[in-house]
Amino acid sequence: MEDFQFLVEKLKREIEISEIKPEFKEIGKVLKFYDGVCWIDGLFSAKLNEVLYIEKNDKVIELLALNLEEGLIGALALNNQDSIKEGDIVKSSKRVISVPVSDGLIGRVINPLGKPLDDKGEIFSSTFYPIEKDAPSVLDREPVKTPVHTGIKIIDALIPIGRGQRELILGDRQTGKTSLALDIILNQKNDHLRTPICIYVAIGQKLSKVRRIYEILNKNQALDYTILVVASADDPAVLVYLAPYVGCAIGEYFMDKGEDVIVIYDDLTKHAWAWREINLLLKRPVAREAYPGDIFYLHSRLLERSAKIKGGGSLTALPICETQLGDISGYIPTNLISITDGQIYLEADLFKANFRPAINIGLSVSRVGSKAQTKAMKKVSGRLKLDLAQFRELEVFAQVTTELPEDSRKIIKRGKILLEILKQKDLEPVSFEKTIVLLFAVNKGFFDNLEIEKINIIVDKLIKYFDLNSLDTLEKIINKMDLDEELENELISKLNYFFENLDV
Ligand code: ATP
Ligand code: MG
Repeated sequence: MEDFQFLVEKLKREIEISEIKPEFKEIGKVLKFYDGVCWIDGLFSAKLNEVLYIEKNDKVIELLALNLEEGLIGALALNNQDSIKEGDIVKSSKRVISVPVSDGLIGRVINPLGKPLDDKGEIFSSTFYPIEKDAPSVLDREPVKTPVHTGIKIIDALIPIGRGQRELILGDRQTGKTSLALDIILNQKNDHLRTPICIYVAIGQKLSKVRRIYEILNKNQALDYTILVVASADDPAVLVYLAPYVGCAIGEYFMDKGEDVIVIYDDLTKHAWAWREINLLLKRPVAREAYPGDIFYLHSRLLERSAKIKGGGSLTALPICETQLGDISGYIPTNLISITDGQIYLEADLFKANFRPAINIGLSVSRVGSKAQTKAMKKVSGRLKLDLAQFRELEVFAQVTTELPEDSRKIIKRGKILLEILKQKDLEPVSFEKTIVLLFAVNKGFFDNLEIEKINIIVDKLIKYFDLNSLDTLEKIINKMDLDEELENELISKLNYFFENLDV
């Protein structure tokens, strides 16, 4: 009997062992290597966006698996691509591409692989965030309710942006797109709520331009809360393709910690070009307007990751897009317009006519931001919208006739004053409380009898006056976020004093 029991146990054990599959490691081989693309066979279970590697003497060459066909993988080299040879052994890392994240990234310049590009040494981190991640679910989100104060008068008053929103900045070459984004970063320094972490992603730009941006941020102490992710025009297309996802992943790390984050993608047109180049290298057919068919999906899955998390942090996305000859109905611009919650359109003609920032107020819109606008700003901007609309209507008549009734002439003068007030130089963001004071003064007619040519100087003087003598009033606007009767009276008496003693 005992022998029988023993036999049963032995048989059971043998069956158990036979069910354990032998450990099987896949080994791949480079079949062909040209134009930066490795065609590899043998890695049957490799995943999309997985990092593959080739070990050579003391070097490790990393590759990104992008094209998965049966038994054949198309992968692009992430580093040391000159050392790749046909016949090289390729192994899979079982790791989808991710980026090291830590608080140590703040103030640093990195490439899309997380390697520092500045001379401030290694960045230590044991946490990795995947560069592609599902967007937060609807249940985890809450409506946009806190403003991003951009420091751009037109935006804060008329096209307000909320934390967690996606707002597109688009315009032709050299219309001030990057300057606008930079001003928004600079203005966050003195945010009265809390300074968001800003991530500037330079996509396919010249290094000289990126260096200038770094210098400006450094000079204005904005590196205390800013991270730069850089894939320059000289970098391989695969790094340019990865850059925005890396910026977004770093943003998600800070958002998960409860921080507010602003990510600027400068610009997604160059990102679309890089994706086209990669697709041509991988021998995939390009489709509409010679862009790969999935370019919409590529950008939407990036931008849908911006969110305001219930009771937590937020990620605001400001993608930039370059238009050709003002064509906002081009393929990439229309895609992006439909993915985002609004757009700020910079127009070359306005820029040339010295209306800067060259924002076309009529074609710009923010679909969710007004919910986040402060009551004080709502009060002053309501009147502004009305005045500008009336001005537009009458402006056309004014060109054909000089004999306009007194009322109409007043409206035209008010419109001209407003346009003058809304101008501002780059690198000089205006805090939202000062914008409120300026617009309040216009609405109450303080500027009505002044010469248009002098408005600029007067605005500068008024801002200085409030900075020197009325910090308490500005403070009250910040604390109340509303203009009650008491505060309005206080503003009126201060403005009375300023304009009575004005000497221009
Ligand atoms: P690109 O298409 O080359 O990226 P861009 O649209 O990003 O250009 P910027 O580089 O921001 O444009 O600006 C172009 C030039 O216009 C810069 O020299 C900048 O200083 C100037 N500029 C931008 N905004 C203003 C402004 N509000 N007032 C005066 N000058 C400005
Ligand atoms: Mg630019």
